[in-house]
Amino acid sequence: MSLNSTLDIDIVRANSSKINTVDFENLTFGNVFTDYMLVCDFKEGTWQKPSIKPYEPFLIDPSAKVFHYGQAIFEGMKAYKDENDDVWLFRPEENFYRFNKSAVRMAMPEVPENVFIEGLKTILTMEKEWVKKGLGNTLYIRPFMIAIGSGVIAQPSSQYRFMIILSPARSYYSGEVKVLIAEHYSRAANGGIGAAKAAGNYSAQFYPTKLANDQGFQQIIWTDDATHTKLEEAGTMNVFFRINDTLYTAPTSERILDGITRKSLIDIAKRDGIKVEERSVLVSELIEGIKDGSLKEIFGAGTAAVVNPIIGFSYQDTYYELPKIEDSIALQLKEKLTKIQYKLAEDTFGWTVKI
Ligand SMILES: *Cc1c(COP(=O)(O)O)cnc(C)c1O
Repeated sequence: MSLNSTLDIDIVRANSSKINTVDFENLTFGNVFTDYMLVCDFKEGTWQKPSIKPYEPFLIDPSAKVFHYGQAIFEGMKAYKDENDDVWLFRPEENFYRFNKSAVRMAMPEVPENVFIEGLKTILTMEKEWVKKGLGNTLYIRPFMIAIGSGVIAQPSSQYRFMIILSPARSYYSGEVKVLIAEHYSRAANGGIGAAKAAGNYSAQFYPTKLANDQGFQQIIWTDDATHTKLEEAGTMNVFFRINDTLYTAPTSERILDGITRKSLIDIAKRDGIKVEERSVLVSELIEGIKDGSLKEIFGAGTAAVVNPIIGFSYQDTYYELPKIEDSIALQLKEKLTKIQYKLAEDTFGWTVKI
């Protein structure tokens, strides 16, 4: 195959495709997977030859480190199809760098660039049919790595498995999102793993989020663990605040994940003359902003939903609702970013990569 000239890869073909059994109009996020998966193992200190083979379960020893110590990381990205049936990725190098940053933090081996990038392009070329045309249709890409070495001794594994699986998705409307501002629980702490896309960061959020759900809130806005006064992330997304006509978002740090959607929205906003400040925003500023009417918008930003508008927040048992506005900056930025991703607007930044 010419397209993986820099990557030696085994390809095992499936006997048939299950694509005709899939109802693309009624997909729930992350439940359907394509025909193939990419697998690349690390053992005896080196990465082995990767393969692309039919999607199927596999066996791992019950004592594997991933089950006991949570050595697991992942990425989330999307492929988009344009009007000419070409398939595009959005800033894939950023996901690759971040993946290896997460790997280092979790004492896992870094994945070679050609396995991640060329491997991804190869499997996407095989699965092109699964990327549907039209705004809102995407193929969600989930690269991940787990520690598969056996033995319950608490130390890093000597064997790992890197994989890429693909799931067709439709853009979802999240409904009216109300959030609870965290006053006790924390997502991340200085010196911790908050800046890594580590599996454990997610399981740690499930319980506090469930408590918030029980109170009628869809998400939690995480605050700094030391004082619970600085606003940091919304659920598993970065978070922006619009006060008058300026956007604010916390600077990335050990506690805040360096989101690709976040930095792309900042660049688009700045290009189009919208003021953006990267600085900590205090809970007290939000409450002031509700009282004097200067707080116009709050929104989460991440690959899955792109932009997720938040209509109100609760803090110390008081619920504060944002005013309804016509000229949402969040929705304008979402449209601009989405159009770049689908090649419906000029990509002045050079972010899109053709498969
Ligand atoms: C993945 C993630 C984000 C969003 O990152 P994107 O690159 O924009 O998808 C934000 N916060 C957390 C905690 C995340 O895990």
